[in-house]
Amino acid sequence: MQMTEDLIRSVVQQVLSQMGNGDAPTNGTTRVRPSGTFGVYPTADAAVQAAEAAFRAFRVRPLEDRRKAVEIIRNICVEQAEELGRMELEETKIGRLDHKIIKLKVALTKVPGVEYLRTENVSGDDGLTLTDFAPFGVIGAITPVTHSLPTLAGNAINMLAAGNTVVVNAHPSGAKVAAEGVRRFNKAIAQAIGIDDLITIIDPPTLESAAALFDHKGVRLLVVTGGPAVARAALASKRRAIVAGPGNPPVVVDATACLENAAKSIIEGGSFDNNLLCIGEKQVFAVADIFDKLMDAVGRHGGFRLNPQQIDTLTKVAFKPGDDGALHLNKDLVGLDAAVLGKYAGVEVPKGTQIVFGETGADHPYVENEQMMPFIPFVRVPNVDRAIELAKKSEHGYGHTAMLHSRDTSVMSKMGKAMDCTVFVVNGPSSAGLGLGGEGVLSFSIAGPTGEGVTTPLTFCRQRRTAIVGGMRFV
Ligand code: NAD
Repeated sequence: MQMTEDLIRSVVQQVLSQMGNGDAPTNGTTRVRPSGTFGVYPTADAAVQAAEAAFRAFRVRPLEDRRKAVEIIRNICVEQAEELGRMELEETKIGRLDHKIIKLKVALTKVPGVEYLRTENVSGDDGLTLTDFAPFGVIGAITPVTHSLPTLAGNAINMLAAGNTVVVNAHPSGAKVAAEGVRRFNKAIAQAIGIDDLITIIDPPTLESAAALFDHKGVRLLVVTGGPAVARAALASKRRAIVAGPGNPPVVVDATACLENAAKSIIEGGSFDNNLLCIGEKQVFAVADIFDKLMDAVGRHGGFRLNPQQIDTLTKVAFKPGDDGALHLNKDLVGLDAAVLGKYAGVEVPKGTQIVFGETGADHPYVENEQMMPFIPFVRVPNVDRAIELAKKSEHGYGHTAMLHSRDTSVMSKMGKAMDCTVFVVNGPSSAGLGLGGEGVLSFSIAGPTGEGVTTPLTFCRQRRTAIVGGMRFV
């Protein structure tokens, strides 16, 4: 009987969905829903309405449909990684093609799905109590230019696995690839389970459309991934917000570290997509005992060392004085190749160079700012306590990510406590903190300011308890 009802409901929804109207508007307005748009809408209101209708259809579907939707997003990212990665690079003009492909092909396979939602239970003399994980409804997501489609896809996997639908306001400079991804995901999902618009996107996105999404009554939860301005705006919003904000991850290297591993790790993490990742190694504090040896090792593993004059030349292009007199990051240099940074520094670097690097003071603009480019400043410090102190200062209290290279467990504890970061990686590249070469799941939204950490499907759930009194204990 149950099977038959489910089947009928599913067929009805499929037919309604294919007619281009899976549900009627509830607020008396006419829904803007041109057929064949597959999730792309011109306004926040239209996108939210479509996502609300999709949620009403999705919430009564079996878990198997969520699994199918999540698998479709993953498969499209993996199978079309080269095409979509190229599209993202051509549009945003920042980062590296090889790493854009890895983000879609490898990283997204580490984002957990429906299997992550395990009902918790307590069974005792008084009965059985279950804690289930239920969806919120429509989630509003703001995504960054640094990983436009990967963040959208990662958020969508987590959120749909949890049973929600999502409306995205992408960064204007990565909006085309984001909209193309949404079209492809929805088209395939609609074909597989008969519901369109599980993911909708506002095209074109603007600050006004982001504000409209922040304030829309149909949005139950906001998830914001970006820099300081949008993080502040989200924290000030009336709506509940999960905020994945900026970082400026420092690395500390002490005298007990394996210098070969430290050098390789700093290069691997700091060169990934030309250091666009919020977790990427941005500045290094190394103790004087091993400083020169570490610099040699970085040079041997793909780094090209700039001399002080070359660093000055590069810095004058990378940071410009603003009206407030302070130096500000020149965004035109964000995400450029090491070879291009070399040219700005006045030097031709060898082919295959992964990062440019050099020695600076602790108050250098490259140390103090989240530069998001593959020049890494190394600061010589007298001892590990001073290294940790300066690392903490350079992180500005974001509490985002920090790395340590040391074999001394007391230093590990000391730095872990002092930094108080969401992600702390010991003896590996930053990417190990997201399950790439380290244990654990991956997300492109690491919610430090609001405390959810590396986001998972559980981040996007409401906990619901059911207590069955006096029965259902089987042992
Ligand atoms: P950004 O802050 O310029 O833009 C992020 C998003 O916010 C974009 O969609 C943009 O259009 C929107 N936005 C910006 N200001 C806004 C405002 N006042 N109101 C509403 N929306 C606004 O950042 P970006 O250059 O795209 O991305 C890089 C930044 O994001 C870095 O600071 C990086 O550390 C951070 N980031 C953090 C994480 C994380 O997981 N914590 C992940 C990726 C990137």
